[in-house]
Amino acid sequence: MKTIALIAHDKKKNEMLEFVGHHKDLLARFHLVATRTTGTLIKDTFGLDVETMMSGPLGGDQQIGALVATEKVHCVIFLRDPLTSQPHEPDINALLRLCDVHNIPLATNRKSAHILLKYVAEKEAEEDAAKKA
Ligand code: PGA
Repeated sequence: MKTIALIAHDKKKNEMLEFVGHHKDLLARFHLVATRTTGTLIKDTFGLDVETMMSGPLGGDQQIGALVATEKVHCVIFLRDPLTSQPHEPDINALLRLCDVHNIPLATNRKSAHILLKYVAEKEAEEDAAKKA
């Protein structure tokens, strides 16, 4: 099962919930990891199974970065708030950098997230079909 990482800054959490609500059935087919507040909101709202890391400002982005570096995460959906400065900006940049280093698909806004999830889900379905053939 492929792993998708979900992270949303505070002002993007509602957008993340809308996104997850819209794609709940699709997301349920993946192993989900998230920073603590984002993951807890998703679990509480939709009852999805989400593995939670620490909160972003306390090191959660770095934990997800470690999963990216070891290629245990197959795609990252990170709804960043580009209009508010974040105390953990270096951690955020490190995570984005690691996605590029390891060629891990990354979406940082909702439209890109839709496109990426659709693509990853289609690929997964194709791979499953090929395995069964
Ligand atoms: P949070 O972390 O999900 O714990 O709020 C996200 C972040 O701010 O990086």
